[in-house]
Amino acid sequence: MSGLADIPLVEEGRKVNLLDLDRKAMEAYFEALGAKAFHGRNVLKWIHKHGVTDFAAMTDLSKKLRAQLSAVAEIRVPEIVLEQPSRDGTIKWVLELDCNNRIETVFIPDGDRATLCVSSQVGCALDCSFCSTAQQGFNRNLSVAEIVGQVWVAVRRLRQPMSNVVLMGMGEPLANFDAVVSAMNIMQDDLAYMLSKYRVTLSTSGLVPALRRLRQSSDVSLAVSLHAPNDPLRDQLVPINRKYPLGDLLPACREFIQGDKRRKVTFEYVMLAGVNDGDVHARELIRLLEGTPAKVNLIPFNPFPNTDYRSSAPERIEQFRQILLRSGLMAITRKTRGEDIDAACGQLVGRVQDRSRRQAGRLQMSAEGIGL
Ligand code: SAH
Repeated sequence: MSGLADIPLVEEGRKVNLLDLDRKAMEAYFEALGAKAFHGRNVLKWIHKHGVTDFAAMTDLSKKLRAQLSAVAEIRVPEIVLEQPSRDGTIKWVLELDCNNRIETVFIPDGDRATLCVSSQVGCALDCSFCSTAQQGFNRNLSVAEIVGQVWVAVRRLRQPMSNVVLMGMGEPLANFDAVVSAMNIMQDDLAYMLSKYRVTLSTSGLVPALRRLRQSSDVSLAVSLHAPNDPLRDQLVPINRKYPLGDLLPACREFIQGDKRRKVTFEYVMLAGVNDGDVHARELIRLLEGTPAKVNLIPFNPFPNTDYRSSAPERIEQFRQILLRSGLMAITRKTRGEDIDAACGQLVGRVQDRSRRQAGRLQMSAEGIGL
């Protein structure tokens, strides 16, 4: 979590963006300015509870403090450049960041629930074979302001609170650890979005050391992108498995929820026809998850250009689910939402100035493939 050391009062002539600061950092910042910490808490409330970005409107701060703040700080929120509503009520926003980078945020209404799916990186470095974000390559981590700013923008735009936030957009949240933890602190803060630990869910492909650290830094719900019941298959689908295989991942998952009998880890499992969707895979999955308080989320594969994967048929998914249910495993099939606007799981691409050279590599491969 950010301490005072990493908050310069003025960064190279640039103003400090207060949207980057969680409660602790905000208190430290105000103390460094020579003000009282509680003013920092008030500002946190102005920004996130009231949506105020203009210091002049923060009437419980002295004129002098407001003037001081205007000189050294600002509240800069991400800018929506495109809003796409889906037929099913889902809304996708494209947010413009610096240097031509764009990320996507998705609002998913469902009955009483208002869920926001937020991105944590511009692109992703992990290269899962069935995910279109991976094809975009990777540019950089998002800042705290850019992560929590997605919540800020959604709440203001829709004039309604979010009931749930899932870190399931572009990027691997645990690869951007500090910023993600601070942003989640703000989501859970009573002075901001007041979301309980059951209503903020971090999804990871399984960065085991970071997952262990997360338990010390943050109390949120955990989803893990499993997608395969054995190492050889998972190595293919989720290449980070070669570094952190299932034998490391599952104990870390159990540890994460240890001590809270009501908690379960959600395991995401994308249903790929002929790849991981057989009865044998279901039975293997049951054995793998034995002893781990788990629920399984089956996700029909969402297609994107240039992929050879196909989704399992609905009957296959249901058959798979029934096998899990019969063993006592809780399993649901995730409804596909926002498909018509490319906002479904694995379809978020934004615009990424790739620095991983993945796109270049792919283009080269496809050029070779067609004999160029
Ligand atoms: N990097 C994190 C956060 C992304 S969450 C993670 O891997 O968990 C997005 C979820 O959608 C993940 O479970 C991901 O594996 C899944 N997904 C990716 N591509 C998909 C696709 N084409 N169809 C369905 N689900 C997909």
